[in-house]
Amino acid sequence: MIIKPREMPKYLMQLEALASRLPINQIKKEDVVKQLINQRTGFNGERSINFPLIFLPQNDYFILHNLRLLYQPNYYFQIDTLILSGKFFLIIEVKNYFGTLIFESMFDQLIRVTDEKEEGFENPILQVERQSRQLKSYLSTHFFSTVPIENLVVISSPRTILKNPSNSPLISEKIIHSSKLPTKIIELENKYPNNIIATKKIMSISEKLLKEHTPDTKNILEKFHIPESDILTGVRCTKCFHLPMKRIKGGWNCPACNQISINAHFSALKDYLLLISNSITNKEARHFLHLNSDSTTKRLLKSMNLPYLGENKGRKYRLNFLENK
Ligand SMILES: [Zn+2]
Repeated sequence: MIIKPREMPKYLMQLEALASRLPINQIKKEDVVKQLINQRTGFNGERSINFPLIFLPQNDYFILHNLRLLYQPNYYFQIDTLILSGKFFLIIEVKNYFGTLIFESMFDQLIRVTDEKEEGFENPILQVERQSRQLKSYLSTHFFSTVPIENLVVISSPRTILKNPSNSPLISEKIIHSSKLPTKIIELENKYPNNIIATKKIMSISEKLLKEHTPDTKNILEKFHIPESDILTGVRCTKCFHLPMKRIKGGWNCPACNQISINAHFSALKDYLLLISNSITNKEARHFLHLNSDSTTKRLLKSMNLPYLGENKGRKYRLNFLENK
């Protein structure tokens, strides 16, 4: 059963908001769009293993996607997918590489060949083995668990050609296409026929892992060194994406396509949350939404039933759209 579903990573949402709110000639725009494409492709790749995992027996396997756990002070480790069973735990790292991948065991290197271009990457086996060691030490600190930890690198696209020129058994065992995942899990079941942990214990481990999961909260403007003043403000049209819409009585009107929307400010405030801050004052909201009166701004913010702190001009509304309620 799925304990933690795969959700769109916050960083991807931040990149989408940022790319849509940078002027075309902003110096970092190209970097942001490049990162956005990378992250989107990665996320789509990760989703490609959802389907083969459907076939696992619901009561024997507990699945957690996108886990980020504190390993040492200020150091987190991340796992794309963790599968817990009474017999073994399995770490899956999904790679969304296209082209031909040559796994060179002599130098532990991955060479990707696309359109005559060659690029080198770290061998992903090194990465999953590092994750296995981290998880092992994490589990032994928190649960005294001695369950075997297996790991796999899953290549999401069936069109990616995999080559193992030195015929390394480790490479052919650890690197698979996503369609082979169910067969691989059956092989692991045969390798570990005995149940070592009771289902109740696995449930408590997965609940604890879920609780310990810490989403990354990096400030994206700081990461890209973009001043807040470069961010385009205003409410975006829900139909033609024109920025900004104009406030009219009871809603928003798009000067480009004449679309009327009642709630278009929601997604603008979500962008504010992703890019600038998780709280907003009346003055800041008035500026960001292009409103011309304090009372309209106050009415809009109040109508959203946001929790707030403080009174009058100092009141800060908490933008809680992404919090688990
Ligand atoms: Zn429009």
